[in-house]
Amino acid sequence: MLQRKYLFPNVIELNYQAAQLLGVNVYLIDGGSEFILIDIGTEDTVEEIVELIRQMDFKLSKCKMIVATHADADHIQGLQRARELLKAPIAAHPASVGPLETADEIQTYASIAAQNIHLPLRPTKIDMLLNEGDVIKVGKLKLNVWHTPGHTPGQLSFKMGNLLLSGDNIYKDSCVGVIDAHHGSDLPKFIESLKRILADDSEFLLPSHGPVFRRDPQIIQKAIDRLTAYQFMPDFGTCAIAWPLLDEFASDLVTGRMPNL
Ligand SMILES: [Zn+2]
Repeated sequence: MLQRKYLFPNVIELNYQAAQLLGVNVYLIDGGSEFILIDIGTEDTVEEIVELIRQMDFKLSKCKMIVATHADADHIQGLQRARELLKAPIAAHPASVGPLETADEIQTYASIAAQNIHLPLRPTKIDMLLNEGDVIKVGKLKLNVWHTPGHTPGQLSFKMGNLLLSGDNIYKDSCVGVIDAHHGSDLPKFIESLKRILADDSEFLLPSHGPVFRRDPQIIQKAIDRLTAYQFMPDFGTCAIAWPLLDEFASDLVTGRMPNL
């Protein structure tokens, strides 16, 4: 049997457990009589992850649910294989259902043709919907479901006591999940989600990539400030809500003002 490395009471993360980078963070929430998985990662690591869970002496039949935090391929490509091995239902936010069930390679970021990135994706049926305000019971534990759109429309976070499983909203270095119109990024909503995390009283953030960390208002505020500026810059294309320079240019053109060089 493999010794379980709990990060917090009832929380194991599989990269930490494996002592190597497998891919996205995969959290096992151990409710004693049953457990859930939050994300599973890409298909090539599913069997290794399931084997680790077995070696930690969890009964695979006690897996109550596999949660997709959102519909990006690096988090969900392995869902089908995980369901075959664990025989557990898959849960996601309603906004993630379309891209997952149709295996939409653009919205899931599975295919980035210009960079020759192609992750084969199988249509994945969603068995259970998770909405804002829902409570997931795992044995004696309760996770409050937060809908935190912005990175993608279906991004979920989960509050459990003093922990917030914060998805792709914010990382330890103040970076955030990819901002790209192709998978439905929305800067104003992203900022709202970050403000909600800033205002929350959780003590630790458990992101979907990289190390877990103590919730530090400065880390979150720095991201809010950056995204607030991006709203008025063309850096993320159609995710911007305005571009003041172009408005100025348009008004210069119609008033016949020539450049003052
Ligand atoms: Zn991600």
